[in-house]
Amino acid sequence: MAGRAIGRVAVIGAGTMGHGIAQVAAMAGHDTVLCDVDAAQLRRAVARIEATLDKGVRLGKVAESARSEAMARLAATGALREAVAGAELVIEAVPEAMALKRTIFAEVEAAAPAKAILATNTSSLSVTEMAAGLDAPGRFIGLHFFNPVHIMALVEIVRGEHTSLRTLDRCQQFVDGLGKEPIVVTDSPGFASSRLGIVLGLEAIRMVEAGVASPEDIDKAMVLGYRHPMGPLRLTDLVGLDVRLGIARYLHEALASEAFRPPALLERMVAEGRLGKKSGSGFYDWESNQ
Ligand code: NAD
Repeated sequence: MAGRAIGRVAVIGAGTMGHGIAQVAAMAGHDTVLCDVDAAQLRRAVARIEATLDKGVRLGKVAESARSEAMARLAATGALREAVAGAELVIEAVPEAMALKRTIFAEVEAAAPAKAILATNTSSLSVTEMAAGLDAPGRFIGLHFFNPVHIMALVEIVRGEHTSLRTLDRCQQFVDGLGKEPIVVTDSPGFASSRLGIVLGLEAIRMVEAGVASPEDIDKAMVLGYRHPMGPLRLTDLVGLDVRLGIARYLHEALASEAFRPPALLERMVAEGRLGKKSGSGFYDWESNQ
């Protein structure tokens, strides 16, 4: 790996995002360690990575040798200290809770090499605040991947107040090496992607509430009229109404803007358990053919 900005990568949290990040890192040639407190989740994550790569081989998108080399570069452990020892980049992908993430980074800082970059995959929390308790916040940064990681090209690189230029530069090189497109955003609530995406989704919900048009037709307006690959209501169903409500509440407060006030319809649907695809119904019925 001579000459590369980043060698070994550790990914903390092996859920939806963590397993995908580990997969693309291993495929890009990084020795990669995946870590989770839940042993069953860790096993599932490795199996999911293997299944995705197998599918890639079947479809002719991944060479058999690339699949087996990536799997050979991938390790899994339940021990955080073991995972980050020797890592040059640690990417955290545990649930979206500031206190949990800060606890993990305190432990990571104590166990990882001093030159390692510490990155969070948070989709909304303040990167500067997350780094506040660290001895060296210059090596802290946000690397916001999108779901599903192996398909989505964008990585939002979030510069905290103290993130050093060297950290930023190494991360840009890392993202380039994954074959993804970085954008650089200053730490600000919702970064670039969530702030814009959420406002569109909330306005679409307000339009359903006001009877402007059906969810299908509102989505069609954006798909056919603006060439969005998917309408904002269908996307809300895929992401999860509860997840979007959480982000809307946070941005409403953090940005003090009415544009982010959660619509009553969204609150009601979440209270009724209509969370979108994962619960079988949201703005669309996911139990019939979608
Ligand atoms: P998830 O619930 O699927 O996975 C989180 C994993 O973290 C679980 O496997 C859990 O067992 C593990 N975990 C919990 N505590 C831990 C600890 N102390 N040490 C190690 N592992 C621990 O969550 P996710 O959807 O992958 O989201 C992870 C992060 O990525 C969140 O910050 C989220 O906001 C962000 N994110 C999510 C998406 C998305 O579409 N799901 C997109 C972009 C960013």
